[in-house]
Amino acid sequence: MSDSIIRTTTKLAITMAEKYIREGGIAVDATAGNGNDTLALSNLVGASGKVYAFDIQKEAIERTGKLLARSSLFDNVVLICNSHEKISSYIKEKGQVSAVVFNLGYLPSGNKNIHTMAESSIKAIKESLGVLRKGGLISIVVYPGTEEGKNERDAVFHFAKSLPPEKYHVCRCDTPNQPGNPPEIIWIEAKSL
Ligand code: SAM
Repeated sequence: MSDSIIRTTTKLAITMAEKYIREGGIAVDATAGNGNDTLALSNLVGASGKVYAFDIQKEAIERTGKLLARSSLFDNVVLICNSHEKISSYIKEKGQVSAVVFNLGYLPSGNKNIHTMAESSIKAIKESLGVLRKGGLISIVVYPGTEEGKNERDAVFHFAKSLPPEKYHVCRCDTPNQPGNPPEIIWIEAKSL
């Protein structure tokens, strides 16, 4: 497997999130899917930390549960089969979350007709801002390869761009020499001061 961090967008996104997460911290996977990000977050926060993982599909929650049972070192994940729009109803630790990761789109090897939607994704990102600690990170991988994915990318970027610069730092990352419409990442950091 390649050691490159920038070649695979999802790898780059989780590598960046790692910098914001400490043992004992709280992290959120807003789109659990096959559980790869949830597993990475679980290992980062460790035995004394906690991960909340959301997905609207039972199939995704089951796949994530199975991956954790096989590979997680810790019993520290709360699996929630509900929309990430409800983040703040489940997370009591307001202002304490180190990172919220979104990997938008559909479940790989699943039903492609069930995918994230611009309106609910923006609502979930707003909810995430409400639970994030100062200095924490929201990471959003977007997929502009379809018309809906492009609209969602534009909506997320438009929202992130509108955030007040004295409170948030926003960064957008793409891979401009790659063919097609490769995924991009939008990061939102809540400033510490
Ligand atoms: N992070 C995952 C992984 O590591 O395998 C991949 C996520 S996959 C690209 C996107 C997931 O978002 C799908 O499993 C889909 O069911 C989920 N999803 C779609 N709409 C959602 C919503 N409103 N709330 C939570 N999850 C949603």
